Amino acid sequence: MSNRLAGKTAFVTAAGQGIGRATALAFVQQGARVIATDVNAAALESLHKECGCTVDVLDVTQAEAVQAAAAKHGPVDVLFNGAGFVHAGSVLDCTEEEWEFAFSLNVRSQFRMIKAFLPGMLKKGNGSIINMASVAGSIKGAPSRFVYGATKAAVIGLTKSVAADFITQGVRCNAICPGWVLTPLVQKQIDDRARAQGIPVEQAAAALLGDKQPSMQFTTPDQLGALAVFLCSDAAINVRGAAWNMDGGWVAQ
Ligand code: NAD
Repeated sequence: MSNRLAGKTAFVTAAGQGIGRATALAFVQQGARVIATDVNAAALESLHKECGCTVDVLDVTQAEAVQAAAAKHGPVDVLFNGAGFVHAGSVLDCTEEEWEFAFSLNVRSQFRMIKAFLPGMLKKGNGSIINMASVAGSIKGAPSRFVYGATKAAVIGLTKSVAADFITQGVRCNAICPGWVLTPLVQKQIDDRARAQGIPVEQAAAALLGDKQPSMQFTTPDQLGALAVFLCSDAAINVRGAAWNMDGGWVAQ
């Protein structure tokens, strides 16, 4: 336990597994009071057992539920917008419904969350918002990630707009852009590839990395959590409107 976030209250979405869960745990380890939310009540229960943080079910696609969560748990110092979904395929594979769903979960949810929690931060004159974006499709073109890339590019634009509007009022807004992070979401992609191609899981994992992550190492959720701790700590006071890559060198190529 350290205290880089002592005295801060952090609200985390999609905290049931993967990056959101690791971030909630990292925030607790750094002394923050954490409210961890997700649609998956059982996953939240196990997180509560692991670290004792406050948990609450929240579907970020539901506008009224988001408003109610802000009224119940706000004001907060840190908002981590983790929820997101990957749709595979090109523009020709994407239906109107899939476009609507991807934008609702990946982008509109962040708009809703920020609108609900920002007034509390402005009253305090202090706050840090972190939005999960991605390198895929937004910073680098990625095959078969059409609507995902479009949503994550929108997240970067949303992040920079919020950062620019509130830069003199104590609120910082930044985005994190990972390459491959080994979460249940990515493990499923590895397993699907191994099954589809009839190859060992290790070979499927290496193929995934070889496509995009020249370090040939997955980022771990814990490493992502450590970056989130830095971005919302006072050490990052001058990091504003950043789209921060953590991608094993994908962008550098
Ligand atoms: P994951 O699929 O492992 O976990 C997602 C979590 O979101 C789950 O706990 C799920 O229950 C929750 N969730 C789903 N719908 C929700 C909703 N409507 N409201 C609230 N919670 C909901 O995902 P992950 O790999 O940890 O990814 C987290 C974020 O990071 C996403 O925005 C993703 O796009 C982004 N990202 C991930 C990677 C990666 O390699 N894993 C790379 C780039 C960006």
